[in-house]
Amino acid sequence: MSENKDQKFVYDFTEGNRDLKDLLGGKGANLAEMTNLGLPVPPGFTITTEACKVYLESGAEPAALRDEVSSHLDALERKMGKKLGQADDPLLVSVRSGAKFSMPGMMDTVLNIGLSDSSVEGLSRQSGDERFAWDSYRRLIQMFGKTVLGVDGELFEEALEEAKDAKGVTIDTDLEAADLKELVERFKGIVASEAGRAFPQDPREQMDLAIKAVFDSWNGDRAKLYRRQERIPHDLGTAVNVCSMVFGNLGPDSGTGVAFTRDPATGHQGVYGDYLQNAQGEDVVAGIRNTVPLADLESIDKASYDQLMGIMETLENHYKDLCDIEFTIERGQLWMLQTRVGKRTAAAAFRIATQLVDQGLIDEAEALQRVNGAQLAQLMFPRFTEAAQVEKVARGIAASPGAAVGKAVFDSYTAVKWSRSGEKVILIRRETNPDDLDGMIAAEGILTSRGGKTSHAAVVARGMGKTCVCGAEELEVDTKRRRMTVPGGHVVEEGDVVSIDGSTGKVYLGEVPVVPSPVVEYFEGRMHAGADDADELVQAVHRIMAYADRVRRLRVRANADNAEDASRARRFGAQGIGLCRTEHMFLGDRRQYVERLILADTDAERDEALKALLPLQKQDFVELFESMDGLPVTVRLLDPPLHEFLPDITELSVRVALAEARKEPHENELRLLQAVHRLHEQNPMLGLRGVRLGLVIPGLFTMQVRAIAEAAAQRVEAKGDPRAEIMIPLVGTVQELELVRDEAEQVIAEVQAETGVELKLALGTMIELPRAAVTAGQIAECAEFFSFGTNDLTQTVWGFSRDDVEASFFTAYLEKGIFGVSPFETIDKDGVGALVRSAVEAGRATRPDIKLGVCGEHGGDPESVHFFHEVGLDYVSCSPFRIPVARLEAGRAAARSSDSDSR
Ligand code: PEP
Ligand code: MG
Repeated sequence: MSENKDQKFVYDFTEGNRDLKDLLGGKGANLAEMTNLGLPVPPGFTITTEACKVYLESGAEPAALRDEVSSHLDALERKMGKKLGQADDPLLVSVRSGAKFSMPGMMDTVLNIGLSDSSVEGLSRQSGDERFAWDSYRRLIQMFGKTVLGVDGELFEEALEEAKDAKGVTIDTDLEAADLKELVERFKGIVASEAGRAFPQDPREQMDLAIKAVFDSWNGDRAKLYRRQERIPHDLGTAVNVCSMVFGNLGPDSGTGVAFTRDPATGHQGVYGDYLQNAQGEDVVAGIRNTVPLADLESIDKASYDQLMGIMETLENHYKDLCDIEFTIERGQLWMLQTRVGKRTAAAAFRIATQLVDQGLIDEAEALQRVNGAQLAQLMFPRFTEAAQVEKVARGIAASPGAAVGKAVFDSYTAVKWSRSGEKVILIRRETNPDDLDGMIAAEGILTSRGGKTSHAAVVARGMGKTCVCGAEELEVDTKRRRMTVPGGHVVEEGDVVSIDGSTGKVYLGEVPVVPSPVVEYFEGRMHAGADDADELVQAVHRIMAYADRVRRLRVRANADNAEDASRARRFGAQGIGLCRTEHMFLGDRRQYVERLILADTDAERDEALKALLPLQKQDFVELFESMDGLPVTVRLLDPPLHEFLPDITELSVRVALAEARKEPHENELRLLQAVHRLHEQNPMLGLRGVRLGLVIPGLFTMQVRAIAEAAAQRVEAKGDPRAEIMIPLVGTVQELELVRDEAEQVIAEVQAETGVELKLALGTMIELPRAAVTAGQIAECAEFFSFGTNDLTQTVWGFSRDDVEASFFTAYLEKGIFGVSPFETIDKDGVGALVRSAVEAGRATRPDIKLGVCGEHGGDPESVHFFHEVGLDYVSCSPFRIPVARLEAGRAAARSSDSDSR
């Protein structure tokens, strides 16, 4: 960040506004907005994030900063009629950090700047409260010593404890002015000996050092960790707010509180908040005394209460959203210290969005921006009943949502063993590593006592869609003794039942009953939004989904390969099947035919095996086309390497060896073993699979095409409306596609001739290899549609084998910030996405009416859906459960882009 000569680094609260969050941070931008609305905000100014960036990069504040701060301070002093630290009547200020995104408690704040040995006397006289003045001074030295001068905070706490002990009292407020004076001397002594310098008496020096400390706190360990976990970029920097102090601790006519303009849990309008009389902000969190409900303020100080209610209404109408606020009352005068659009639960987000539409504050397009797919996904998980009388024992990080109940196990081996015998287990570890993978797969949920949102447990569990709570630090996990100790000392032994909630991070002892989500009941059609028992949430979801469906351009299809999934997908709003993987149709009882196909020595034997598979495949497709009648169904021809259908090499070797030892006949098994050896590949992902199978195993693809064509003909004869599309996987060059296409067309012509039914079967390909993407223009000559297989495309563009990399080094990559989110979760726009974009353009250039979709897992990922909307795909296809999320996000993307088009 280089310094620009004309750059302005300091903004008075009267100069900013809420759109300047990048520059002024969230707190600064909103303080400015409130100031401009004429609300009572204590005057002050904000030092920009740009100044912080210069400081962090060059190690020094921008040259112009000091003078700019001086002129803003002069203006502030004129406005307040007193000077910073003035001996007889000091202006005091707070210095607070405030980044673009809220980072609660992560960075530094120093209050009461301006107090010194002389001005403390002035404050005492002015306030008429000696105790208050000395208490403020001791707080300044304590906060300043700790955060600005780096003194161990414990030393101040110990001194405070000793002062209380000496006096025989237990709470701070029982210390009197004389005690606090002594304490100030102790604190100054601690600073001098620990920091190697005296506590600065010059108020301007205090302020300048505090500003620098706030800049530095951006790169504190806590802040860095928080940003990594919350995926906040490291280069934003923080703004610094310098604000004149107001005091809520000047007696019973003073106090401090927090409030919401509506209930953040339900969205209902009302009076929600807490108030603490005769207190400063930090006392509320310190829990020194109990707060009272905000409604009680009406009887304590009616004038301030009425004014506050009026301000809350102004803020709601202005921000057109739920706001949370912090305020202080100083001797009957109300001051607004902070506001921001408030955090809310997923359920409240949906309710509030529709409530605001009903109030006429926002329109439907805006309502769509007030919710998101991640929130909808959260509402779709089964959840624990609220009524359950089960004890919560700890809380960790909500790493991967869902509600899981099972017996505690402390190692992967036991997890697998117990789950094989039908037990539900929760795998509990300090942290997980790649060796735990089998156990994680076997468990209902994963609980760790260490690690954050990017820990191995969190990343892998999210990838698997498995419930996970991580970093529950209150738990002492002892894997050697197979037990964990919860706060309070209770010991959970292996086999004890625990319940974990991956949406809240809560850990319970015993079994918490799980209830289905009402939102899923609604999507399933078991609950109607208009029904009497439909709750407010279901009605809100129903309305928001209707808005999304009305505006979205992307169609949403499902990845489904059986009639049951297809029907559910349809209920969830799928407009067809974008990927029917046929490999699942070759498992179970049918494996024997695949084995025969692989072992066939003669054409006749091979044809026999294929002939046995044909009617089974056909029936699969008849059922699928029936459940998706009238909607497109893309059937992908066989993709995985054939050895996946053969027995495991070790198991088979043992079987052969045993049979040999017992002198039992084992010719078939020996042939199988030879075939397994023959088909063994070093890198099966890059081996004989996809279109390559179709080209080297005669009759395989034609059998599948025949099954599709015959099934379609049968559905037409039954007066159905089948819309089958045949998709060829893993194509790298147009020649491969041409060969398969010629054969397929011949088979389709035969079936038409045999059945007398005219068939309209589209033929297209997956684009899932870089070469296919790069030569998409040529491939389009032979393909009526493309479906981007972004799973394989991500693997091949990055050179990652997903199974190998996710469990091994992805955590390290996430922690090092190489990527903020796994490219298998959210499309890598710059790499994989760029190939998709250029293939879309090339495909359309060759064949303007080519149909374009995506069927990798990214099709159900919110951020990726926006990207696919932007590059102009026709549809996304995802697992049935993600369909509502994709519909919502497609609607949000369309509403957002039409918004920017019209600007
Ligand atoms: C893909 O590669 O994105 C895809 C959908 O195919 P599969 O996941 O079955 O390899
Ligand atoms: Mg693939």
